[in-house]
Amino acid sequence: MSLITLTVLGSGTSVGVPFIGCDCDVCTSKDPRDNRLRPSVWLRYNSRDVVIDTTPDFRYQALRAHLPKLDAILLTHGHADHILGLDDVRPYNFRQSGTIPVYGSPATLEIVRRVFQYVFSDERNEASRPRLETIPLDGAPFDLFEQPITPIPLLHGSMSVFGFRVGKLAYLTDHSRIPEESMPLLEDLDTLFLDALRYKPHPTHSTVAQSLKVVETLAPRVTYFTHICHDLGHQRAESMLPDNVRLAYDGLTVTVDA
Ligand SMILES: [Zn+2]
Ligand SMILES: [Zn+2]
Ligand SMILES: [Zn+2]
Repeated sequence: MSLITLTVLGSGTSVGVPFIGCDCDVCTSKDPRDNRLRPSVWLRYNSRDVVIDTTPDFRYQALRAHLPKLDAILLTHGHADHILGLDDVRPYNFRQSGTIPVYGSPATLEIVRRVFQYVFSDERNEASRPRLETIPLDGAPFDLFEQPITPIPLLHGSMSVFGFRVGKLAYLTDHSRIPEESMPLLEDLDTLFLDALRYKPHPTHSTVAQSLKVVETLAPRVTYFTHICHDLGHQRAESMLPDNVRLAYDGLTVTVDA
């Protein structure tokens, strides 16, 4: 059976941790796990390298994790903390032939085309631009490098976004609710990554308590909370969770059956 390796490139919320100008215990913590770049993961399977989201920290994340090449990008949604690093894939374009495919919902790709208008413009332009090919996802499972990928429809406030299931692994970042129809797509998971922004309620993100309920229902072998803000210090927050629920941190690597 083939394996999927996931490396967390960033486990933080949209502003990252530390939060600029904050001197709380978590923002000033010496624990490297309390340093959280913006939310993204790197998947490696079948000798292919795929990232989910390209954050404003993409360049540093790729350098830090030694991301050797980039075969495809999956986008969960079009918020700035998930797409603004897209221009920084150019070094991969320089080193690799062809365009890099970018998968996302039509709504996400429309935002990408608007925000990165110069990338997709037919106008002549002397500046270097990333070479990207946008591929719309209608929500149906699709094959990417001989591996089935299942988009998982989620609600992020009132916005429809995607999580992704790859084999026995699912990565569900930004969401406040998992629609009932999506639950059967999440059965029999080994490893689940779940948005758990903080303890206090939030209009567009799942909280620790809400995500613990999801864990009870889906019962994966292990769950990692991600998209975490500075309300949660790694060590203290993790000590209050059940053993099968951990906090993700930048650099965490897990290997799961495809
Ligand atoms: Zn986000
Ligand atoms: Zn803080
Ligand atoms: Zn978002």
